[in-house]
Amino acid sequence: MRTKQFKSESKKLMDMMINSIYTHKEIFLRELISNASDALDKLYFKSLTDNAVGIAPEDFEIRLEIDKDARTLKVIDNGCGMTEDELDKNLGTIAKSGSFNFKQENEKKENVDIIGQFGVGFYSAFMVSDKVTVESKAYGSDEAFLWSSSGAEGYTIEPCDKETVGTVVTLHIKESTDDENYDESLDQYRISSLVKKYSDYIRHPIKMEFTTKEPVKKEDGDENKEPEYRDVTEIRTLNSMIPIWKKAKSEIKPEDYNNFYKEKFYDYEDPARVIHSKTEGQATYSALLFIPKHPPFDYYTKEYEKGLQLYSKGVLIMDKCADLLPDYFSFVKGLVDSEDLSLNISREMLQHDGQLKLIAKTIEKKIKSELEKMLKDEREAYEEFFKAFGIQLKFGIYNDYGMHKDTLKDLILFRSSNEKKYVTLKEYIERMKEGQDTIYYACGETDDKIEMLPQTDAVKEKGFEILYLTENVDEFSIKMLGEYDGKKFMNICDDNLNLDSEDEKKALEEENKAAEDMFKAMKESIGDKINAVRFTNKLKKHPVCLTSEGGISLEMEKVLNSMPGTNDNKVKAQLVLEINANHPIAEKLKTLYNDDKELLGKYAKLLYGEACLIGGASVPDPVEHSTLVCELMTK
Ligand code: ADP
Repeated sequence: MRTKQFKSESKKLMDMMINSIYTHKEIFLRELISNASDALDKLYFKSLTDNAVGIAPEDFEIRLEIDKDARTLKVIDNGCGMTEDELDKNLGTIAKSGSFNFKQENEKKENVDIIGQFGVGFYSAFMVSDKVTVESKAYGSDEAFLWSSSGAEGYTIEPCDKETVGTVVTLHIKESTDDENYDESLDQYRISSLVKKYSDYIRHPIKMEFTTKEPVKKEDGDENKEPEYRDVTEIRTLNSMIPIWKKAKSEIKPEDYNNFYKEKFYDYEDPARVIHSKTEGQATYSALLFIPKHPPFDYYTKEYEKGLQLYSKGVLIMDKCADLLPDYFSFVKGLVDSEDLSLNISREMLQHDGQLKLIAKTIEKKIKSELEKMLKDEREAYEEFFKAFGIQLKFGIYNDYGMHKDTLKDLILFRSSNEKKYVTLKEYIERMKEGQDTIYYACGETDDKIEMLPQTDAVKEKGFEILYLTENVDEFSIKMLGEYDGKKFMNICDDNLNLDSEDEKKALEEENKAAEDMFKAMKESIGDKINAVRFTNKLKKHPVCLTSEGGISLEMEKVLNSMPGTNDNKVKAQLVLEINANHPIAEKLKTLYNDDKELLGKYAKLLYGEACLIGGASVPDPVEHSTLVCELMTK
């Protein structure tokens, strides 16, 4: 018999299990029970349509057997079992493919509880065992096989004798050490309390032989003797089998919800919010939904699959029903249990199921109103939530041609020039200055960079609040919104930004007209990187800035051009070099235009470079820029 090697990731995981001083060792049992329960579900499902299965619904069960002398704990099920091939594939590799990505950032974040985060499944058996065997006979097969492993070196598979279909997992429990008490895994009370704690809702009975002491009735004349006891054994069902979502809310403690969530959805942190509802009427269903505190590690990758578990009368029929969640709420985890869905409905049929659509609609409303409640009553928690998932809501506004913008517009937050705290659009409007009819925003990589924009000072000085847009998606969703409460949005870097009075406007116009030829000369030497040069009043201390004409800002140009497939089709913002009309440089330029046109050209290039730098971009030609600066310095 050949010893096979574990796939490398599995081996790594196995090493971690064996050597872990892992604090949640107790989860091994719930993982094995959960596997057994899945296997029972599969065969139960089959038995609904196939009489040949020959097991009555009430006979599907999980049994736990403790043998203290042999130091073994067995988890036995009469579920679907595994073939030789399945034993090899399922137990030789990590099933949750991709979910255990060591290579990536998780290894760096040392304080992240990797094991808790992923729910390690079968391998967690090695946290308490020095050897694990799995005997299994698959439904429909007349052969059984024994999988066996003592750790990271590998595993073997050989034929074995097993009468009935199903699986027996045998854990050879480690010897206790000074630091670790493994004996408790062989203690019936301990095991039974673990089942209650983690697996109570499992809908198949989890049975165990329980031994208790019973006083032996004394014979006449024995009254003064020491009392005697004898062992009484009985088979007990350890779990209540009622799914948590079917219980009355008053019976459920917050930690019950939290434990259920963490175990079921592989999170190491309690959820931010729990939504538990029972709906009757057009659609009758229970929903148990969770808003996580942080995104799962793969949330912002294309591997992430949204969806809710779908049950029909307590039986799982689909693990990730995507149709139940809109994309912008894809972070929600949870389940729906409906009375009205047929058990063997297919994925394709589900998509057209009116009942399901109805459920999806009410679920969306529930999530929205929960978020609104959180925003209203628990601002801090909402802001934390928003840091984790806000970007998804903003995408929601932008996607589908803005179809959902009204649903989402009151759920989004931006930081702003007021105290740099988060503000909703509604709050912005409420504290707008009298006479202000525009919502101002600015884009940049960070708040600090936005504050350094030349235009920022002038807008702030006028008493207008500025929304700080630091995510790529931000300006796109703002543009999609178009307006809020009748107020238009404006980028402070837009050339239309006009904070002047009528008189000031007029004066500037005249000044620009008079300098037309000078601007033309300046533009010529800068080239077609810009569309025009002109004076502005919108700058306070800065000499220059770049603004954009038309719909596309510099930030949008950056984002759009960084998207794949845009290589030959670059978008270009139409830029204007604006010069502070009240800065000494304005006079200097005018003098140069009369006295030294060549030097004016160099100044124009330098000013353009400066404007790029101040705006948070790089100088297009650093060598030329620095040569020009040196030339001026040595003059
Ligand atoms: P997961 O349960 O998340 O898929 P595990 O490592 O716990 O990951 O299990 C791997 C696979 O092994 C399961 O998906 C299942 O196909 C199979 N398996 C584990 N235990 C059993 C069992 N008791 N009966 C049948 N199949 C099982």
